[in-house]
Amino acid sequence: MRILIGGGSGFVGRELTRLLRDKGHEVTLISRQPGPGKITWGELESQGLPPCEGAVNLAGENLINPLRWWNESYKKDLFSSRVDTTKALSQAIAASSSPPHSWVLVSGVACYKPSLTAQYTEDSEWTPFDLLSRLVKEWEAAALLPENVAKTTKQVIIRPGAVLGRDGGAMKQMLLPFWLGLGGTLGSGRQPFPWIHVSDLAGIIVRALEPPADTPPSSSPQVFNGVAPALNTNYEFTKELGRVLRRPTILPVPGFVMNALLGSERAVILTQGQKVIPKRTLESGFQYNYPDLTSALKEIVN
Ligand code: NDP
Repeated sequence: MRILIGGGSGFVGRELTRLLRDKGHEVTLISRQPGPGKITWGELESQGLPPCEGAVNLAGENLINPLRWWNESYKKDLFSSRVDTTKALSQAIAASSSPPHSWVLVSGVACYKPSLTAQYTEDSEWTPFDLLSRLVKEWEAAALLPENVAKTTKQVIIRPGAVLGRDGGAMKQMLLPFWLGLGGTLGSGRQPFPWIHVSDLAGIIVRALEPPADTPPSSSPQVFNGVAPALNTNYEFTKELGRVLRRPTILPVPGFVMNALLGSERAVILTQGQKVIPKRTLESGFQYNYPDLTSALKEIVN
């Protein structure tokens, strides 16, 4: 298959590209920068969708960019980098004379309201309640294809928790302080910590790119929670990372410090969390390589 990946140069995109190429598929990236094996967003807009059987969007300004202060311009970039790129791809698919058979958006679990007790599956109803859930609403709405195109193109939305891997995401920023013995729980530590190993997320995306089993495909998107089936708290994650690294984790970071450092609207992704169940992902028969924290963290650290 020929697969087009918006934002494919990033952390998840590199893993996905590796997996797709290993399986013999051809990958073209959509990027802000031109280069070999890439087209730019401007070229997508002016020349239309290149021939492809599957398309994915992974583009988005980094939510935990330590170099950017939490202000209106950053928030605007968080929205536009996701919503505008997703809209550009869904519009290009809709305008194509031969649209791909699968269109996959990777969004996030921030749509589910943080809670110590509620459990969320893909069937859970939700309405936006804060900035990040509003972002997910707009982002997923931008992916919707017109009804006539949805008759032939399968639409899939994958909502990952924190993506864990050596080469990017939260781990990249956490490994050094934990190595130095400066790691600790965030906030109360009781908050759920939904997570997935990057190679499992890439595996879920590859399955979503397969041609639709039903003809015609459902006109509304199929949603899959992209999280590991283990339900862990931030405390369990912190202690397990310390254990795997053989380092102490005795320095908790209070919630107010996180709010001051990151801004309270985005600190919620670390100081609060949701119990997310990958019900449909499991029902689809997906086999996780890293279903539990110990196996995932050992792979990352070793
Ligand atoms: P990255 O931070 O690695 O970014 C992905 C790509 O997005 C970059 O390589 C870049 O591509 C493009 N990009 C960055 N900033 C902008 C911008 N301002 N405008 C347009 N494009 C931009 O993301 P990940 O691979 O970690 O994540 C992929 C997707 O999954 C993202 O949408 C993210 O929100 C979502 N997600 C990630 C999680 C995680 O823990 N990593 C958790 C939950 C959801 P280029 O430079 O080539 O243009």
